[in-house]
Amino acid sequence: MYFNETHETFRQSVRRFVDKEINPHIDEWEEKTVPLHDLFRKMGGLGFLGIRYDPKYGGQGLDYWFETVMLEETAHIRGMGVYTAIAVQTNMATPAIAAFGSEYLKETYLKGAIAGDMVCAIAVTEPDAGSDVSAIRTRAVRDGDSYVINGSKTYITNGTQADFLTLLARTGDRTGHHSFGLFVVPTNLPGFSVSRKLDKVGLRSSDTAELFFDNVRVPAENLIGNEGEGFIYQMRQFQHERFAVLTGTYVSVKDMIDMTVEYLRQRVVFSKPLITRQVLRHRLAGWLARNESLKQLTYHIVRMKMQGLDVTREISMGKLLAGQLFSDVAGGCLQMFGGMGFMNETLISRYFRDARVMSIGAGADEVMCEVIARTEGF
Ligand SMILES: Cc1cc2nc3c(=O)[nH]c(=O)nc-3n(C[C@H](O)[C@H](O)[C@H](O)COP(=O)(O)OP(=O)(O)OC[C@H]3O[C@@H](n4cnc5c(N)ncnc54)[C@H](O)[C@@H]3O)c2cc1C
Repeated sequence: MYFNETHETFRQSVRRFVDKEINPHIDEWEEKTVPLHDLFRKMGGLGFLGIRYDPKYGGQGLDYWFETVMLEETAHIRGMGVYTAIAVQTNMATPAIAAFGSEYLKETYLKGAIAGDMVCAIAVTEPDAGSDVSAIRTRAVRDGDSYVINGSKTYITNGTQADFLTLLARTGDRTGHHSFGLFVVPTNLPGFSVSRKLDKVGLRSSDTAELFFDNVRVPAENLIGNEGEGFIYQMRQFQHERFAVLTGTYVSVKDMIDMTVEYLRQRVVFSKPLITRQVLRHRLAGWLARNESLKQLTYHIVRMKMQGLDVTREISMGKLLAGQLFSDVAGGCLQMFGGMGFMNETLISRYFRDARVMSIGAGADEVMCEVIARTEGF
């Protein structure tokens, strides 16, 4: 209904890549972190990292439906860590460069990211500023042809491997949202350091880091768009990030339900396969109904995006539903697996660990509620 033959052919090629190049290695990467340069070079070579981006910079120049196919298929990766690392490259750290960056930034950094030659990260959150982005303290001060950056960032996905960061910094002291700049910051500049690789509950295959900036001198041409407008650019960029949470969730939820049903069919308890128990069947059916609603809302969002409409309200609603559904289903499915579900060898335990962050990262549930309330005018 939504996808034609060309989409489906593309879907098969992404699926083959995930089955052959990612899933066989995922257990090892959960232990040691995914090697992003290797993976992204392969993905870049196949055109998977620039689906929507301009062919001038190596992109495929395709539309949001193709992006949806790409995200749906990578969501079949058996662990959300690698899915998240890829989405950072395609949907979190590069959309603002593509939309507002200069020719130089697109030629140098967007092109590098699309080709998979450069790994990137999005650096917004700080130790004292997460939900309230406007409270960030990292400062960029103009000095001749450069900006000098001082401060720190935390929870940065791809942070230990990134070649460049898309970084939000304060450039002025006016209250409101027009005192920020969004910068492309190469990580090989003097004064940049990874203070710490963080040890997480879930998303174990992705690396997450705390970063430090000590008088990092960034060329002024690395400012994205206009000084003072960085916050606005980042709020728009967040919509692409949150969209990836929606697709990642409804695909993972269906995968979790499928693997649970398979287990319940063969697990005999009190002389009957567990799948015959009405209470379990109904719980599964309820999750499927919620999941289908999320998927249809996502497709509605794609249609809106194709028409150039503002999707902030719908994406915030979808992100809220996704975070809650992911956790409900991961926890509920693990329960149905019994003791087996609590074993690391059972895949559902990984989903359970990965699920929790979906209601926190990319804007916590409560922040999504605030955005929805605001768009509704109350
Ligand atoms: C694994 C992981 C990866 C991440 N990757 C990145 C990344 O690549 N780049 C990046 O910049 N950031 C990243 N983040 C940061 C993430 O976006 C923040 O954690 C998130 O925005 C929440 O900020 P915080 O952790 O500072 O929580 P806080 O802002 O301290 O909020 C704590 C809690 O308070 C509640 N809360 C917040 N505001 C309100 C409110 N108005 N009303 C009621 N309750 C509220 C929420 O439940 C929230 O979880 C990542 C985080 C994690 C855990």
